[in-house]
This record gives sequence, C-alpha cells and structure tokens, in this order.
Amino acid sequence: MKLTILGSGTSVPHPKRSSSGFWLETGGGSILLDCSASAVHRMAQEKLDWANLNAIWISHFHLDHIGGLSAFLFGTKYAPETQTRKKPLTIFGAKGLKKIIRAFDKANDYGLLKQPFPIEFSEVGSLDKFEILKDIEAVALDTPHTEESLAIHLRDENDKTIVYSADTGFSKTLGTLARSVDLLVLECSFFKNKPVEIHLELSEAMNLVRRAKPKKVVLTHLYPEWDAVDFQKEVAKFSPPCEIIEARDGVKIEI
Ligand SMILES: [Zn+2]
Ligand SMILES: [Zn+2]
Repeated sequence: MKLTILGSGTSVPHPKRSSSGFWLETGGGSILLDCSASAVHRMAQEKLDWANLNAIWISHFHLDHIGGLSAFLFGTKYAPETQTRKKPLTIFGAKGLKKIIRAFDKANDYGLLKQPFPIEFSEVGSLDKFEILKDIEAVALDTPHTEESLAIHLRDENDKTIVYSADTGFSKTLGTLARSVDLLVLECSFFKNKPVEIHLELSEAMNLVRRAKPKKVVLTHLYPEWDAVDFQKEVAKFSPPCEIIEARDGVKIEI
C-alpha cells in the first residue's frame, strides 16, 4: 500500500497545511480517508486518479473531514473524466452519513446522487468488520471525539496493516487497535497544554505509540501552534520506539 498525505492540518486555514485527507493506494483499488474541502483539489495536485477513486472513508462529521464530500460529488457529476465511468463509488462512515449528504443535496436540488456511475453508502458501527475494497479488510472503532467518530484498521491481501485514528482524545482501546500495525496515522493536534479533551497532545500520542508498538507512525492534524515547534527535537525527548514522521502535505509513505 502507498499513502499520500493530502492534508496534514485542521479546520484552521493555514498556508501549508490543508485539512484532512489521505489517499491510500492498495492492491484492491484506492481509498480516500476523509474528504475535507481542500482534499478535493489536493488529489488533482498530487496527480492522483480521482476520477477512478473506489472508496471514501469518512471518520466523523466535522467539516474538516466531510466538508469536501458534497463538493467532490458535484465535481464527479459533471467532470469529463467521469462521464464514461461505470464502476461504483462506495462511501463508508458512521450512522447518519447518508442523512447529512441527502440534506445538503436537498437544500438546493444538486442531484448529487444521480451520477454517471452508482454511488453506494455503507454506514458502519464500532467493531464492525467489513470489506472496504476487494481483499481489504476493515475494522472500525469508536473514539472519544464526537459521538460518531471512528478510527479504522485496514489489512490488505499481503497482511500489511494501517490504522487511521482521525480525530480522537486519549483512548487505550485505540492503542490496542493499532497494536503492531505497519503504519499508524495518529492525530496529534497540540504540542502541549491542550485546550480540549477531545484531541491529543504530543505526550499522549507518544504514550499511545509505546502501547501500540507500530512499525512506523505519522503524526497529523497539526494545529498552527506546531509551526513554532522543532518537531523532531521534541519527539526525540520521548525516545520513540520507531520512526515518527511529521505529516506534511504531499508526503508519500510506502507500507
Ligand atoms: Zn479535524
Ligand atoms: Zn473533529
């Protein structure tokens, strides 16, 4: 599998960090992990085959994670690149996902679900196991962020594994989900003295890394306060047990 970071930032506008989006290329096709408004155009910037995207995972309904979904469907409805497409696009997320998209659609009769190709929705709950793509096995886990927030564990046909935490507060269960994975994409919203419980700061992220013992970690969802921090120097103070990568828009990671 290969991960391309589309957006390493948050909802706060930032010159270098756009909001959440990760493109995962697998043996069974492509998955977009979260779809912020900026992710829609970031896919094109990275020359990714957005017109043939197979699946979308929406971790929760904050707009820096779902805000681009309606806009993307508006794009695929009319783009020349998608007019001859026949294969379905499946959109996965927590219960209530379809209701949100339908409400947005209805607000101005966009016809977002009438596409040249079928759109399928699949709503999942915590601990559900499902095939997100052919031969790509997924397990969702609820996280302490919003009521519907889910982390996801993916396993491909070669037994390579990735966990995407999305937004979360501290959760030992998340550490269990990420046990020994090849790549842990973990939110680390704040450096220290976090102002809210529903996100992580560096010491908590490193605590989870020690519990999970993943082979590699990307810390993402970085608020602008990280701009003033020497990332690698601060990470080194925790003597990390594996490589810790600072997420940046455009970074690509082989799994
Ligand atoms: Zn967020
Ligand atoms: Zn959020």
